[in-house]
Amino acid sequence: MIFEGLAEKLQNTFSKLKGKGKLDEKDVNAAMREVKMALLEADVNFKVVKDFISRVKERAVGDEVLESLTPGQHVIKIVKDELTHLMGETQSKINFSNKPPTVIMMAGLQGAGKTTTCGKLAKLLKKEGKRPLLVAGDIYRPAAINQLEVVGKQVEVPVFSMGDKEKPVNIAKESILHAEKHGNDVVIIDTAGRLHIDANLMDELKEIDQGVNPHEKLLVLDSMTGQDAVNVAKEFNETIEINGVILTKLDGDTRGGAALSIRAVTDKPIKFVGMGEKLDELEAFHPDRMASRILGMGDMLSLIEKAESSFDQKKAREMEEKLRSQQFTFDDFLDQLEQIRNMGPIGDMLNMLPGVPSKQMKNLNVDEKELNHIQAIIQSMTKDERTNPGIINGSRRKRIAAGSGTSVQQVNKLIKQFEQTRKMMKQFSGSGMDKLKKKGGK
Ligand code: GDP
Repeated sequence: MIFEGLAEKLQNTFSKLKGKGKLDEKDVNAAMREVKMALLEADVNFKVVKDFISRVKERAVGDEVLESLTPGQHVIKIVKDELTHLMGETQSKINFSNKPPTVIMMAGLQGAGKTTTCGKLAKLLKKEGKRPLLVAGDIYRPAAINQLEVVGKQVEVPVFSMGDKEKPVNIAKESILHAEKHGNDVVIIDTAGRLHIDANLMDELKEIDQGVNPHEKLLVLDSMTGQDAVNVAKEFNETIEINGVILTKLDGDTRGGAALSIRAVTDKPIKFVGMGEKLDELEAFHPDRMASRILGMGDMLSLIEKAESSFDQKKAREMEEKLRSQQFTFDDFLDQLEQIRNMGPIGDMLNMLPGVPSKQMKNLNVDEKELNHIQAIIQSMTKDERTNPGIINGSRRKRIAAGSGTSVQQVNKLIKQFEQTRKMMKQFSGSGMDKLKKKGGK
């Protein structure tokens, strides 16, 4: 889970605070010492931590808070506000030009995830109705052009390349003319990365910057590198004045030091975050939702958005109709299962629910294997069996178990569960519903 270490420590501290009826300054100070340690261990910038703690303390030790009926809750609310503030308050969006194409320059060190993120961003913008063009501006790394072309194909976005002989600034200029001619309203330029910041890299970025005057300069940073990422952000910002940051690999970051420091140190917002290697795993960054998540207050809004974008609305309506008319089959069951799994690992989703503390999350071993078994069992059924589960007799059960690598008991269990669901649906649908109502009315 993202920021797991930090979340666990903060939630521990606050559960102690919540348990106390009355608070005095000493209690607040003790809690703040723990918060300070937790933030430092999460690799948050030292000065950022110091300012943060003094702001929280200043607000928390006032009479209004300490004399209130729920001082613990009050202090937590202040911490949440200040965490949100630290990460930039509200969501920062891309500046689109009134006169297309909008030119986005992507910068970053090698390995940060720049090329992948170019593809992810193209995919996201395409989903929003834009017509992006990807531009291969990294001419030094031998495989970079090819990698961008592969990514472009995967997200079905065209890639503009002039090979590795032309200067990147010229490629960038040409790509904009190409976009104008072909109706692409966003140009995403992948630039060269190096292992370390060096003068050549910075000169080249400056040259592209001055040559095409991008509307948006986004720096791609690896969140797992903590304070190093923050230092890289500072240097890039001093050279090419970036508009914002895309923080990658947040899915593997248990600490969160970069996410919590970048805004305060560079005054530049985090616009998007990478949440996995897949090309649809880029999300807009919402400081308030992230603060909620860190404090175990959940993130229902993100969960709902995720569900809305993963679930096919038309299919959902069809499914409802099937349930109503009792035509729900194993095929539909499989469909539902796949849609839910499209939303990502179950553990990540639970994590967005309020009141599921990170400590419990760790112990809660959501059994993805069990879901695999269910999928395999249904896939081993014939078409007839899926639509008419009644015909699945003993010998068929044996065959299905063998075909799916499971046991007859597991097959029995699934069929039983399925039948119970159907029975339940029957009660709640059509005349069944009326009967229930009548019963209640008596
Ligand atoms: P570049 O050198 O900056 O262009 O980096 P690449 O785009 O080649 O990415 C480097 C590695 O990071 C690849 O293995 C990517 O799959 C991986 N990566 C990129 N973004 C993410 C992310 O958000 N989460 C995870 N887990 N991996 C990522």
